[in-house]
Amino acid sequence: MKLIMLGAPGAGKGTQAQVLAQALAIPTISTGEMLREAIAVGSELGRSAQKLLDQGQLVPDEVVTAMIAERVQQSDCQLGFILDGFPRTVAQAQALDEMQVQIDLVLMLEVADENILTRLAGRRVCSGCGTSYHTVYHPTETPGICDRCGKHVIRREDDDPVTVTERLRVYHERTEPLKSYYQEKGILKIVIGQEQITDTTNQTLNAVGLAR
Ligand code: AMP
Repeated sequence: MKLIMLGAPGAGKGTQAQVLAQALAIPTISTGEMLREAIAVGSELGRSAQKLLDQGQLVPDEVVTAMIAERVQQSDCQLGFILDGFPRTVAQAQALDEMQVQIDLVLMLEVADENILTRLAGRRVCSGCGTSYHTVYHPTETPGICDRCGKHVIRREDDDPVTVTERLRVYHERTEPLKSYYQEKGILKIVIGQEQITDTTNQTLNAVGLAR
């Protein structure tokens, strides 16, 4: 199954993608994660992307499209994959169509902007495996330490309130038009993000036919 997770930053795409990846035994492909890795190793791509990420701006379409084109060719993607954070513009969605990648389902996670601001203020991510936590809604068992891999959890630099406001603006302007793009193709399903993660997860599993 080939899936796209659509939604604002902090809507829960990464968390839901992780649940689905496990349930469907397919990999999650996160362009944000790939870019942060490139920044961490100091590659040329990382150096050119860093400022854009810090400012909450999008990396150019051709850069992320090339990353995805290469990634989906890898052997672990043969049975399907979940795209988390790609496409983010109509041009990226068109590029995906041109790659002849047949998407089965686009899950759109809808969360009101005011809830996004609260969510991102408390969001923490593991510096090792990238697992998402929240200081109030989903804390780690041991403060500051990832439940899955034992590495430190940190606050992403682009989760500061000023950058979040800009990321939300960019989301509404550049990414939200993808809702009608995929609605017109008849492959969009909407999941309303709930306060309790397990409630959202149940809806997500339902949407892919894996009701619990
Ligand atoms: P994310 O982890 O998905 O929130 O992405 C973090 C940041 O990486 C975004 O704010 C953008 O700067 C950049 N980014 C990730 N995916 C894309 C994409 N598909 N197109 C452009 N920029 C992206």
